[in-house]
Amino acid sequence: MVELTNDLDKILVTEEEIQNRISELGQEINECYTNLANDEIVAVIAIINGAIIFTADLIRHLRLNMELDCIRVSSYRDATSPIQEPEIIDRIRLNLQDRHILLIDDILDTGSTLTKVVDLLNTTRPRTIRTAVLLDKSSRRTVPFEADFIGFNIPDEFVVGYGLDFAEHYRHLPCIGVLKPELQNPPTWT
Ligand code: 5GP
Ligand code: MG
Repeated sequence: MVELTNDLDKILVTEEEIQNRISELGQEINECYTNLANDEIVAVIAIINGAIIFTADLIRHLRLNMELDCIRVSSYRDATSPIQEPEIIDRIRLNLQDRHILLIDDILDTGSTLTKVVDLLNTTRPRTIRTAVLLDKSSRRTVPFEADFIGFNIPDEFVVGYGLDFAEHYRHLPCIGVLKPELQNPPTWT
């Protein structure tokens, strides 16, 4: 058996802290949409792959009339810093006109991904767009952007786990941690 937490320098957010906070976020989101009429639908859009695990856990706390879809955006290749503009690779299939969109991402960093996706979603004429992120690295923002629902504010460190990857590894860790520096650019992964 491989013990992946051995690859971490430190754990920033434990599994229990994540689950407790997600339950609270679910209540915040339910309260925010509490006045929706029965025919008003919340379209939950997950930015994959990163938001896959956060979305799966969060939506099970939602008591809303909702639909789910995903959008695939890529900005990181195998590196730990963005090497290109975010690129929308796979588009949404839902009709979003008159929907209340709840856009979910794993982490808000420079702000360019969410800015780009919100701009795109606005062209589909939704009623409202709100955003939820598990993590916020607000000190790294280059584009002004604030999420409506935030799990945790974290310092400027490259994190993995709970959906966040390094070269597609570590997404299944139940906690969030900082990868050991010597593992961040192994020659075999480039
Ligand atoms: P932004 O466009 O806000 O700079 O970056 C958002 C995207 O960058 C996230 O969806 C995530 O995929 C990636 N990202 C930003 N910071 C980190 C990090 O610390 N770890 C990992 N694994 N991905 C990150
Ligand atoms: Mg991402």
